[in-house]
Amino acid sequence: MRSYDAIVVGGGHNGLTCAAYMAKAGAKVCVLEQRTFVGGASVTREVFPGHKVSVAAYWMSMLQPKIMRDLELRRRGVEPIPTPPTLHPFADGRSVVFWPDRARVQDELAQFSQKDAEAYAAYDDHMTRIVAALRPMLFETPVDPTDLSLRGLRRTLKLAWRNRRALPHFYDLWDLLTLSAWDYLHRWFESDEIRTIFASYASGSAGILSPKSPGSAYVLARPYLRDNSTDQGPGGLIRGGMGAITQALREAGEAYGATVLTGRTVRRVIIEKGTVQGVELEDGSRIDAPVVVSNAGAKATYRDLLGKDHVAPEILAQIDRHRTGSIAFKINLSTRALPRWTAFDERQLNVAGPGGITLAENSDELEDAFQSAMNGEMAPRPYLWITTPSAFDDSVAPEGRHVVQIMGGHVPYALNGREWDADTRQELVDIVLSQICRYAPGFDEDVLDAQVLTPKDIESMFSMIDGHVHHGEMSLDQIFFRRPIAHYADYRTPVKGVYMCGAACHPGGGVNGVPGHNAAREVLADMGRKFPAQPY
Ligand SMILES: Cc1cc2nc3c(=O)[nH]c(=O)nc-3n(C[C@H](O)[C@H](O)[C@H](O)COP(=O)(O)OP(=O)(O)OC[C@H]3O[C@@H](n4cnc5c(N)ncnc54)[C@H](O)[C@@H]3O)c2cc1C
Repeated sequence: MRSYDAIVVGGGHNGLTCAAYMAKAGAKVCVLEQRTFVGGASVTREVFPGHKVSVAAYWMSMLQPKIMRDLELRRRGVEPIPTPPTLHPFADGRSVVFWPDRARVQDELAQFSQKDAEAYAAYDDHMTRIVAALRPMLFETPVDPTDLSLRGLRRTLKLAWRNRRALPHFYDLWDLLTLSAWDYLHRWFESDEIRTIFASYASGSAGILSPKSPGSAYVLARPYLRDNSTDQGPGGLIRGGMGAITQALREAGEAYGATVLTGRTVRRVIIEKGTVQGVELEDGSRIDAPVVVSNAGAKATYRDLLGKDHVAPEILAQIDRHRTGSIAFKINLSTRALPRWTAFDERQLNVAGPGGITLAENSDELEDAFQSAMNGEMAPRPYLWITTPSAFDDSVAPEGRHVVQIMGGHVPYALNGREWDADTRQELVDIVLSQICRYAPGFDEDVLDAQVLTPKDIESMFSMIDGHVHHGEMSLDQIFFRRPIAHYADYRTPVKGVYMCGAACHPGGGVNGVPGHNAAREVLADMGRKFPAQPY
């Protein structure tokens, strides 16, 4: 029987990141992935013949430069494509293009409000400043503020001291975590269009959230979380799709000596007399290791991999309360042409096309869409965020074909009185195409094939409970020292030797790699091994 120092359950980008750091530190690590390929929700697959599709995650906005550098991901094939600016069109033909140059963005915003255009500089500075102060917190292991032992107090004080730069921003951060995106933006902007552009991201970013939900303001910080000015380059589309990131992570892990096995579903962690022995696979075989690190979500880790024999009922009750509901969906298309955005084409901007397109007409439509999903219906006018990678990367579609990837908000996990079947999935495609055709007439005639992922499909395809793309809502009650649950946010679980390393842990979801990085640091510390990289 094979035996390792540690087993990582799941080959998502966080599991692979965690394994790579542990292997680099000299630990004998094995990654067990249930699917026949690694990557979790950061994968490129041939969904349509000859097309390379980023089936789930499709825009690299958060992969941290530190991790790219530590694991040499650029050298291993992660290549962000210089992507033209994003477009937000309106049905009346006006549009905003988000140029890299702030003054140009201000010119764009001035068509709605001169005052807002001027306020944009203050908003952008504010977000840049507070997020820069916040960024080091991503790489912290959350403390337990209720731990009043000398060790616990010392840890809490040390963390506060290390992050003292963030302290002057405390009240701003508090607002960011408690206010709605809509109210937060109100400080700077008066125009409904401008607030809609910025706040709409809260509609489709994950979870059950509307721009007017208290706590949704934090979403406004997400585009600022990655420092795009480093030697690792900016975010954006990745050449060959998001699978390039997880292939590079796998390559890094294997180069450092990790074993990666696919098609291996872990059924449970074997614990005998309170000591971890390894894992049992779905086929009944076992692999031994004294340490198990789970890349699965919190509910799957606590309920299925550990179970009630090893976790106290009150802890399982906390896990059951972990909010994982979602109204986000994804549609991937093969088309014979790119959408022709009226508001973009008419301006003759001399760029290859918009790098991304967000569609949200106004705050009323967004609220109605949210209510539709809450009522178990598909919203007739959902929020959409569209990318067209084949416009900038000729490796992802055959000659004469295009890949169009659409993330949307506003469909329920369970439809009211109906199932998600071929008919209802087609209904969703029709809704999405009709929404796109408001801004790009005739696009529906160019669509050749569609892949539809409802929240239910996201759950079954990626084992993301309830279809939550971040393994659980990112709200004040579920972040930092409460992610995934109070007292167990330091990547450890109630079972000694069992850890978590996925998006259910601080700092949460998105292809950022940080939960994997931080978990590896904690596991290695407990093993008495040195973390093989500089601190952040
Ligand atoms: C539709 C969609 C669109 C998204 N768009 C973006 C985007 O554009 N940009 C972005 O940054 N983020 C995006 N995200 C979010 C991002 O993909 C996730 O937050 C991220 O993938 C989480 O990474 P992870 O490694 O923690 O978990 P996952 O990617 O969920 O990986 C977990 C892995 O564990 C495996 N596993 C689970 N249980 C077992 C078991 N028992 N045995 C063996 N293996 C197991 C799973 O098969 C999976 O491979 C999107 C997600 C979705 C679903």
